[in-house]
Amino acid sequence: MGPLAVLLGLAFLVAVFASVVAHEFGHALTARAYGHPTRQILLLPIGGVAQIDGSYMTNRQELLVALAGPLVSFLLAGAFFTFGAVTGDVSPSSFLGAVAWANLGIAAFNLVPAFPMDGGRVFRALLADRLGNLRATEIAAAVGKIAAVAFGVYAFTSGRPLMAVLAAFLWFAADSEAAMAVRRFGRGDPDIDAPRGPVRRVVIVRRVGRGFWN
Ligand SMILES: [Zn+2]
Repeated sequence: MGPLAVLLGLAFLVAVFASVVAHEFGHALTARAYGHPTRQILLLPIGGVAQIDGSYMTNRQELLVALAGPLVSFLLAGAFFTFGAVTGDVSPSSFLGAVAWANLGIAAFNLVPAFPMDGGRVFRALLADRLGNLRATEIAAAVGKIAAVAFGVYAFTSGRPLMAVLAAFLWFAADSEAAMAVRRFGRGDPDIDAPRGPVRRVVIVRRVGRGFWN
């Protein structure tokens, strides 16, 4: 691998992480517009996590906050595909093409309805209108755990250790959010009223592109 390839690889890493940050800012700024502060945005090897204080977020707000991240990623993908088209190369082996595909992957992956990923939050918010918050969260968390197991099986059979980490993370996040929902919306336990509220966790995963990324 020559020095130029190494530089391009590094630039790609920086661009993907900047894209992850932009995705998380999509969530955070939308939440802030509704008066919900973000405590921190973490960058992890498995992606980014925005910890938003969503204690009193309505279902509609949760829906829009969840959609805002993938929307940013779709817009970035569109922008990079446009830049790539101008330079005449949108294949994943070109720099612009790789960044565009990475953003498309981030948007699509996060819309998988696996709570507490973005798609799962959308699913939960839609269910909550019909079934109430507690039941909706329980169902969304159960679906999230099934997805976590599926990711885990896939990770082990295809030899992707980071995905195994993500699967474990999703499992425990779904579990803890379901437990928080029981405390928050729970069956009338007067001692556990006044929630400090669940903290939103938003997960995104870097896409492992071919050619550019290992
Ligand atoms: Zn997201």
